Amino acid sequence: MPKYADILLPLAQPTYTFAVEEDMALEAGMAVAVPFGNQRDKYYTGIVWKVHDTPPAVKRVKRVAHLLYGGRKLLDTAQQRLWEWVADYYLCTLGEVMRIALPSLLKPAALDAEAFTEAEYRPRTERFLRLCIQREEELHPIFEKLERRAPRQYAALLRLAELSREAGEEWIPRRLVEADSEVLNTLRKKGLLDWIERERSGDRKWLDRRGSRAFQLPLLSTHQQAALDQLHSAFEGHQTALLHGITGSGKTEIYIHLIAETLARGGDVLMLVPEIALTTQLVERLERIFASRVTPYHSKLTAERRTQTYLALSRSQGGEFIVGARSALFLPLKNLRLIIVDEEHDASYKQSDPAPRYHARDCAVAATRLIGCRTLLSSATPSLESWTHAQTGKYGLATLTERYGGTPLPEIICSDTLRSVKRGERKSHFNLELRERITRALERNEQVLLFQNRRGYSPFVQCNTCGHTPQCPHCNVTLSYHKASSRLECHYCGYHTPHSLECPKCHHEGLAPAGFGTEKLTEEIARLWPEKRTLRMDRDTVNSETAFRRTVTAFERGEADILVGTQMITKGFDFGRVSLVGILNADNLLFSPDFRSSERAYQLLSQVAGRAGRREQRGEVVLQCSDPGHPVIRRLLEGDYEAMARAELAERKAFQYPPYARLIRITMRHTDRELLHRAAVELGHTLRNSFGRRLLGPVTPAIDKIRDEYLVELLLKIESGASSQRARALLRQAISDFRSGGFKQVTIVCDVDPQ
Ligand code: ADP
Ligand code: ZN
Repeated sequence: MPKYADILLPLAQPTYTFAVEEDMALEAGMAVAVPFGNQRDKYYTGIVWKVHDTPPAVKRVKRVAHLLYGGRKLLDTAQQRLWEWVADYYLCTLGEVMRIALPSLLKPAALDAEAFTEAEYRPRTERFLRLCIQREEELHPIFEKLERRAPRQYAALLRLAELSREAGEEWIPRRLVEADSEVLNTLRKKGLLDWIERERSGDRKWLDRRGSRAFQLPLLSTHQQAALDQLHSAFEGHQTALLHGITGSGKTEIYIHLIAETLARGGDVLMLVPEIALTTQLVERLERIFASRVTPYHSKLTAERRTQTYLALSRSQGGEFIVGARSALFLPLKNLRLIIVDEEHDASYKQSDPAPRYHARDCAVAATRLIGCRTLLSSATPSLESWTHAQTGKYGLATLTERYGGTPLPEIICSDTLRSVKRGERKSHFNLELRERITRALERNEQVLLFQNRRGYSPFVQCNTCGHTPQCPHCNVTLSYHKASSRLECHYCGYHTPHSLECPKCHHEGLAPAGFGTEKLTEEIARLWPEKRTLRMDRDTVNSETAFRRTVTAFERGEADILVGTQMITKGFDFGRVSLVGILNADNLLFSPDFRSSERAYQLLSQVAGRAGRREQRGEVVLQCSDPGHPVIRRLLEGDYEAMARAELAERKAFQYPPYARLIRITMRHTDRELLHRAAVELGHTLRNSFGRRLLGPVTPAIDKIRDEYLVELLLKIESGASSQRARALLRQAISDFRSGGFKQVTIVCDVDPQ
C-alpha cells in the first residue's frame, strides 16, 4: 500500500501531502476527511490527487482521518487532467477549481471533528427489491400456486417480474411495486424476494432511464440534413467543429440527432447553455424527445439536487445527457463523448469572479484533448475566435443559411433618433416608426418584444440646478434610480439610499431622472397604449427560475401583449406570436470602449432581432439609434456576418487583439490609492523586465473604485505563435515574488482571456 497521498482541499492552495494508514486503500479521485490547520486542527474534505511513497520534506506529517462516501471516486483521471489544465491555464490553484467543481454539500470544511461528522453528506437511500428466483421454469409453478391461493402476493410478484424485464435490471425500486409492506414481508419470508437499501438516484423517472426505447427524432429538412452530414464529416478530421446557422434555422434539431447517436452508443452528452434559467423552453423541448434522460444542472437547483446528481453520475455507466450552465463542465461524466456549446459566442460562459476565471467554451475545446471527446460550438453569430479557427481549418465547419420552413429573416428598420427628435416625431422614448409599428402589431393581435439594456427607472439622476449627479460612496459609478422602491441603487455593490428631490450638493429640489431603464419604459408604455398589458423581465422583476418560468408562460399564453426586458429576453426564446421587436437604444451597445464592442453589438442585436416572426410570417425589427450609418448597423441590416467579421478581424490584426494575441489582464486592488499606484508601478516595472513591450499599463480603468477599493490594471498581450505557457509561468513567478515583497496587502487578480 502506498504510504502517502497528495490531497486537494477546497482552499486556494495546491495539494498537501498526508500519511496514509496501512489498511486504508486510497486511490486518486476518492474523497477523504483530513485534519488541517496551524494551531488547532479542523477537519476538511479532501480529494486524493495522487498516492505515492515519497515522504514530504516537512517534519510532522498529518494522517488522513477517514474515507468519505464509501470510497467512491468523485472524479476520474480524465477529469483530474481537466482540473489541472484549468488551474494552469487560468493561473489559479487546483483548490479553487475544486471549490467550484464540487457541489457545496460534498465539501464540508474547517469544522471540528464532531461538526464535520455531522456535516458529512449521507446520500438518501431507498429500498430496492429483487426476485430471488429468476429462472422462468422455476417461477412458473410458484406463480400458478400463488395466483390461486394468495392473489395479492401473486400481483406483487408479477409486477416485480414485469418491471425487471422491462428495465433489464435485477433490482427495482420499492416505490414502483404497488404492494403492502405486509405482502412483501410474507414474500420475503417465503424466500421469494429479497431487498436492500440503496442510494437514491438523482433522477425522477427511474424506469424511463433504464428502458432502451428508441427516441422519436424530428425529421430534418434537406438543409438541416446537409448541415448534419457536414458535421459528421467535419468530426472525422477534427475534434472540434463549428455550426454556423442563422437564427431559426433549427440548430437544436441538429443537436438532437447528434445527441441521440451518442446516447445510443452509450456515450455521455453535455450540452452547455449560456444561462440555464433562460432556457426553460429548451429543456422542455429536449424532454419531449429524451424524456427524463435529460438532467439539468445549474446553480438555481437546490444543493441537495445538485449533490444527488453529482453522486449519481459518479456511479453511472454512461448514456447520460446533461443540460447545464458552465459549471456542468466539471460533472463526473465518465464516458463523455460529445459537448455541445450552444450560443458559443455568449460572454456569460466566462466566469469573471471568483477564480477560476474560466471560459467554459474554451475548456470544452481543451476537453477534446484532455478527455478525448468531441465538441460542437454553435451560434448564429460565432465569436471571432471560433470563426477564425473554423476559417483556418483548425475546427471543422458546417453552415446553415436557411430558416426552417423557409421563413425569411426579419426585416430590420433602422430609425434615426436624432432626426425623429428634430422633426418633433419622438414621443417619450419612441420614434414615430416604432410607435406606429407597435400600434399596428397590437391591432393585429400580435405580440411585441421591447429591448432596453438597462434595468431600473433611470441609470442616474441629475440636479437641474447645479448639474450634480449622485454617486455611490463605495464605487466610482452613478446611482440608478428605482422608482418602485423609491431608492437610488448601486448596481456594483448593492448600496442603496432613499431617493429625494433635494440635491445633496446645492439643496435645491432639483434631482430628476435622466436616461431610462426598463421600469420607466413600462410606465411609458402604459401611457401610450393604456389598454394593453405589459410584462417586464429584468433582474428586479425576475430573480428566480420560478419567476422566470412564470413570466415566460404568461407571455406564451398571451396574458400580455408586450414584453419589456433587458438582455434576459434575448436568449433562447421561441415565441410564436411575436411579430415585432423594438430595440429602444442601440447607442449604448455601439459606443462602449471595449475592443469587442462591435462584435458584441452585432451578436446581441442579431440575437434580439431573431426573436421576431419565428413561425410562418416575416417579422419586423425596429432599431432606434443616433448613428444609422454605423458600420455595425449597416452589416446588421444586410445580415452580413462575414463582412462584419472581416472588418473586425482586420482591426484586431492591426492592433494585436484576440484572436491574433492572447490577453491577460492583471487587476490590482487596494483601499489606499497611493499605495496601490506605487505597487502597480513596481509590478509593471518587474513585468516589463520579462515581457518588454508586451506589457501595457498600469492604467486606471473607467470604473476605478468598487466596494471601497481602488483599481489599477496591467495588460499583457502575447502574440499568437509565442508560447503562452512560458508567459504564464513567468507571470506566475513574478507575481509570487512580488507578493512576498513589500506589497503583501495589495490584491492581485489575473484574468486570462478577459471578456
Ligand atoms: P435556432 O436554434 O437555430 O435559432 P430553433 O432550433 O429554435 O432554431 O428552430 C426554430 C423553430 O423551427 C423551432 O420552433 C423549431 O421547433 C422549428 N424546427 C426547426 N427544425 C425543425 C424540424 N426539423 N422539424 C420540426 N420543426 C423544426
Ligand atoms: Zn457601489
